[in-house]
Amino acid sequence: MKKIPFVTKEQVEEIVKTYPTPFHLYDEKGIRENAKAVKEAFAWNSGFREYFAVKANPNPYILKIMKDYDFGCDCSSYTELMLAKSCGFDGEHIMFSSNDTPAEEFAYANELGAIINLDDLTHVDFLEETIGHIPETISCRYNPGGVFELSNGIMDNPGDAKYGMTKEQLFTAFRLLKEKGAKKFGVHAFLASNTVTNEYYPKLAKQLFTLVAELHEQTGCEIAFVNLSGGVGIPYTPDKEPNDIRAIGEGVRKVYEEVLVPAGLGGIKIYAEMGRFMLGPYGGLVTKAIHEKHTYKEYIGVDACAANLMRPAIYGAYHHITVLGKEDEPCEYTYDVTGSLCENCDKFAVNRRLPKIEKGDYLFIHDAGAHGFAMGYNYNGKLRSAELLLQEDNSVKLIRRAETPQDYFATFDCFEDIKIER
Ligand SMILES: *Cc1c(COP(=O)(O)O)cnc(C)c1O
Repeated sequence: MKKIPFVTKEQVEEIVKTYPTPFHLYDEKGIRENAKAVKEAFAWNSGFREYFAVKANPNPYILKIMKDYDFGCDCSSYTELMLAKSCGFDGEHIMFSSNDTPAEEFAYANELGAIINLDDLTHVDFLEETIGHIPETISCRYNPGGVFELSNGIMDNPGDAKYGMTKEQLFTAFRLLKEKGAKKFGVHAFLASNTVTNEYYPKLAKQLFTLVAELHEQTGCEIAFVNLSGGVGIPYTPDKEPNDIRAIGEGVRKVYEEVLVPAGLGGIKIYAEMGRFMLGPYGGLVTKAIHEKHTYKEYIGVDACAANLMRPAIYGAYHHITVLGKEDEPCEYTYDVTGSLCENCDKFAVNRRLPKIEKGDYLFIHDAGAHGFAMGYNYNGKLRSAELLLQEDNSVKLIRRAETPQDYFATFDCFEDIKIER
C-alpha cells in the first residue's frame, strides 16, 4: 500500500515559519478515527476497554484524546502513573503493567487505585509487604514459554522473554491471592510484538480464554477480565497490508463465544493495552535535508538524528520516507539518510531508493507516532524536538516545546561549583 504523508509540503512550509524542524507531528483526525474504530470493533463486549500504552507516546494531549473514548492508561513506571493521574484518569482507568517493579511504584499505583498486574509469583508477597494488603481486584501476567506461532510462521519467542509467570505459577498465584483477600481476577499476556496479521489477538484470546476457564474451575476465582495487552502491529513497509481492527474484534468475539460463553463465563471483560496500533501511523518525524555528501556512498544529512527517533539505529527498523513535494517523482537515487550523532548507526535509511533530494527538502519519516519521540535521548548532547498536533481543522498546536540547553544542563543546577553558561 502506497504510504502517503498526512501533510503536504505546503503545510510544512507554513508550520516551519513558527516551529523549526525537526519536529514530531501527529494527526489528530487519524488518531480519533482509529480510536473510534477500535471502540466499535469491540463494542460486542460491554466491558471492553483499551488502556493506551503510555510508553508509546507519553504526551498529556495525546492521553486526553484517548480519554475522550473512555480509554484508560497502561503505565509501567512512577512518572507514567503521575502523567495518568494528572490527565484525570481514575484508578479504574489505570492499568499498572510493570516488571521488576520497585516498591515505591507499587505503593503509588495502589494509592491511585490502579489495577495492578503482577509480573511474577514472588510479587504477591512483595506487594503485600509493600502496601500492607492485597487489593480486591488483581491481575497476573502469563507466559506460556516456547514460541508463539501463527499461520505465517513464528511470530515471537515468549520462552526467551523476561515477562510473566509459568502456568503452574499462575495457578499458585491465584490461590494465594484469593487466600489473601483478592476477589476479582484478571489475566494478561503479551506474546508477540508488532504483529501485522488479523490472527494474533484471536489466537492469543483463545489461549487465554481456555486458560481462564481452567483457572476458574480449579481455583474458584472470579475472572473479571482478560487483558490482550499490546502487540497489534502496523505496516512499516509499504508492501504490507494494515491490520483490520474490525476483523480482529470479530475474531476475538468468535472465540469468546466458542470458549467462554459455554463455560458460563460470558461476563468477562476484554481489555487491551495497544500503543503502536493507536498512534504509530498517526505520527511523523519532519526533518530537513541540510547536507549532501558524496564519498563511497551517497549521503543525505538531515537535521534530525537518532535522538529524535531511535528505532532505525537500535533495531535496524525500517521507517518509510517521503520527500515532501516529490511524492510522485521516480525513486532513481540510492541514499543513506543520516543524522549527526557520532555513531555510524545513526541512519534513518540505508541504501534507500528515493527521488533526487536537494538541500532544503523536507523529509517525512513515517510511522513515528509510537515508540518514536518517547524513546528519544540526549546522547551527544542532542536536544529532543518539539511535538506538534495537526488538529482536525488543519491548525497546528504545540503540544511539547523543544528542549533547550537549559533543560539539558538542569541536572547540574544544584551544584554551587558548576556554572554552565547558557
Ligand atoms: C509496550 C507494552 C504495550 C504496548 O505494546 P504495543 O506493541 O505498542 O501495542 C502494552 N503492554 C505492555 C505491558 C507493554 O510493555
